[in-house]
Amino acid sequence: MKFPPGLPIDDIKFLCSILAKKGESRLVGGCVRNILLSKTSTDIDIATQVEPKQAMQLLTKEGVKCIPTGIKHGTFTVIYHKQHYEITTLRRDVETFGRHAEVAFTNDWLEDAKRRDFTMNAMYIDMDGNLYDYFKGQQDLAQKLIRFVGDPEARIHEDYLRILRYFRFYSYFDGNNMDDASLNACKKLAANMDKLSGERIQLEMFKIINAKFAMDALALMHKNSILKVLGLDIQSDGFWGYNLGDDSIVNLAALLRCCAKPADTLAYIKLRWKLANKTFALLDFLVHLPFTANDAKQHQLRLLYQHGLEKYLGGVKLLAAETTALPADELISRATNAVIPKFPLSGDDMLKIGYSGKAMGVAIKLLEKAWLESDFKLSKSSLLAQAKHKLNKF
Ligand code: ATP
Ligand code: MG
Repeated sequence: MKFPPGLPIDDIKFLCSILAKKGESRLVGGCVRNILLSKTSTDIDIATQVEPKQAMQLLTKEGVKCIPTGIKHGTFTVIYHKQHYEITTLRRDVETFGRHAEVAFTNDWLEDAKRRDFTMNAMYIDMDGNLYDYFKGQQDLAQKLIRFVGDPEARIHEDYLRILRYFRFYSYFDGNNMDDASLNACKKLAANMDKLSGERIQLEMFKIINAKFAMDALALMHKNSILKVLGLDIQSDGFWGYNLGDDSIVNLAALLRCCAKPADTLAYIKLRWKLANKTFALLDFLVHLPFTANDAKQHQLRLLYQHGLEKYLGGVKLLAAETTALPADELISRATNAVIPKFPLSGDDMLKIGYSGKAMGVAIKLLEKAWLESDFKLSKSSLLAQAKHKLNKF
């Protein structure tokens, strides 16, 4: 197997050579799929025979930064030359509980492969570029066939997150072939996703919604009632014609706007998916988007002033996903470079001319509105003149 040019293979070999004192290490997961597809990877997973504590000790001794991110389950993270590596000791399941498994470490690559989810994820590449493929993963990858290792229903009962992972990997490819047994098992056992934590659902859903072929995966999830189980009850068929981009929050907002009751659905997933307040606030703004497509310069500045850059950009991306008629790229680059005007009057200015308390707040609001409607043209002196004129009316 040839390593693709963008892969930091010298660094990977260096890290694995440190561990080699106690056992072998191989690439696994997404980066193996990508090597087989001649693509580069941002995420790199390494499987090792070395037990986690010992592996961390060996690397730390050589000055490599290790973070015990999931040490209880045998995983830690290495940061080396700014690249993150997830290093996981080979495991076999002792007992599973629908999400959390009791695991034992092993030296046996086949045992480790058996507990991985899909055939295309159960392949390894060693430092000499040899591929270890235990369940015809290479063949399935070439056919874009997401297939569980072993019996799909049994594998899902071990960990219900695998239902969402199935659709995550589906969303990575277009023109997928279908392993009926795998899909049917996901459909049959979907209700068990109620046992998953909100954080995990959110993480997987955002990965799906952000993937290159999100629409294909979402359509399959919809058809098989998986979205419904997650609270996403899409009513408008218009959604399937949308042109989703690479912003997962915007894409989710587009989906929510096609649900029967967008605000209620958003309120539900805020709690169920444990959305952060900031994510919720942006979704809430987008679901009720208070502006429509308009590329006039002054209109854009007004919106930027009123809502700020992040919400404005989200709105433009959302409108672009929903209609193709918007010159979104131009609007986005214009907005990113725009100098947002500053309201010329301050509280101090108002105090100086005799305003105070509630009257001052009301007056500032009115003056700001007039200034906005003048497209920011009213000068400080004419605003002050208006303020003085209105003073005795408050
Ligand atoms: P990506 O490119 O999205 O990171 P990945 O295949 O690397 O895809 P990860 O979530 O990073 O996916 O997991 C790395 C590997 O660990 C997977 O390829 C799979 O072999 C294994 N794995 C992760 N989660 C599970 C799970 N819940 N059940 C079984 N195997 C899993
Ligand atoms: Mg990965």
